[in-house]
Amino acid sequence: MSKILIIGAGGVGQVVVHKCAQHPEVFSKIMLASRTKSKCDRIAEDVEKRYGRKIKTAKIDADDVPQLVKLIQKFKPKMVLNVALPYQDLTIMDACLATGVHYLDTANYEPKDVAKFEYSWQWAYHDRFKKAGLMAVLGCGFDPGVTNVYTAYAARHHFDEIHYLDIVDANAGDHGKAFATNFNPEINIREITQPGRYFENGKWVEIPPHSIMKPLNYPEIGPKNSYVIFHEELESLVKHFPTLKRARFWMTFGDEYLTHLRVIQNIGMAGIEPVTFKGKKIVPLEFLKAVLPDPGDLGENYTGWTSIGCRIRGVKNGKEVTYYVYNNCSHEAAYRETGTQGVSYTTGVPAMIGAMMMLTGEWKGSGVFNVEQLNPDPFMAKLNEYGLPWHEIHNGDLEL
Ligand code: NDP
Repeated sequence: MSKILIIGAGGVGQVVVHKCAQHPEVFSKIMLASRTKSKCDRIAEDVEKRYGRKIKTAKIDADDVPQLVKLIQKFKPKMVLNVALPYQDLTIMDACLATGVHYLDTANYEPKDVAKFEYSWQWAYHDRFKKAGLMAVLGCGFDPGVTNVYTAYAARHHFDEIHYLDIVDANAGDHGKAFATNFNPEINIREITQPGRYFENGKWVEIPPHSIMKPLNYPEIGPKNSYVIFHEELESLVKHFPTLKRARFWMTFGDEYLTHLRVIQNIGMAGIEPVTFKGKKIVPLEFLKAVLPDPGDLGENYTGWTSIGCRIRGVKNGKEVTYYVYNNCSHEAAYRETGTQGVSYTTGVPAMIGAMMMLTGEWKGSGVFNVEQLNPDPFMAKLNEYGLPWHEIHNGDLEL
């Protein structure tokens, strides 16, 4: 029985709070803190109606370490679960070190003024967490998160060596809007407008954005145009599975979505350099976020499925084998259970499970860890129990 402090009251935060509230045997007291307290209160009200549990709420600026330290010292949680934005990762890690509490997040640190994400900044905290006897788990959403767990599980149970890894991420849902992003628009657009990158024969290969496309078949969904993009888990997976000869990440985009994205970029609205507007400095991408639909509000009319999995080729007992492990998640079912759509759901459920692993001692360690370094088996079991059941196909055609 432990106290948990959740930071960030967006779509993912909403799911995390719902799922933690369903498990009072592990999460005995929950506090949700975020920049806008009214959003925390709204989520707390909904949770109280559904489960009769009271959630504490607080206002916090998570860019401010002393404020974080004060809040942590007052509430005294055993761990902080960070589902604010990647910009806040380091300040929250600093506050955890200062107060002696464990840490978990779902996205790696990204500086606000450079559209670049990599693990180096957070891996640099390893010795400090280790020395303090604290555990920090990085990237415990779906991708990164479950995709890392899937890879670790496959490597442990179905292969002697894994050689080729393709992570395939389809959103075959329809939210009825001409253009919307499924999680924070600023972070999402920064991520997908970068050059693509994949790992091959010990080197990173950079390609122009969206320049490699294949129609891939997704179970129960059918063919969807899938594009190679860079995604953060590739960085840690090639480090921790050095037998990999190639690792790529594929994401589906509809033609309409890509047309909107191209226009947004061509007219400068994806820019992160401030421009002067009516005497004020504004960042075009931040302004765009303000006029786009809030991802947290897409759930009500969202239909269809997400399908995310790992397609792996390697050897077992001297023979080449293939393995495909995936989850399909229904946007409608996610909305019924937590009041938000499938992308927030597929991120929030693994974050709750990761926190549960840490608080129950199934995952133990001092230092900074990516999830593939930890035991995948209890996590895989919990995915089946808590809303993200997985399926596997042995020796099927991977199409890749
Ligand atoms: P949202 O933008 O909906 O929510 C972010 C929340 O963080 C908001 O409530 C926001 O406050 C709050 N916040 C932002 N800055 C601060 C700050 N300085 N101090 C305190 N709170 C702050 O994002 P999502 O819920 O969609 O995503 C949350 C995280 O999950 C992101 O880091 C995202 O990258 C990650 N993610 C990971 C995925 C995975 O599979 N691993 C997939 C999808 C998302 P306010 O309400 O005031 O704006």
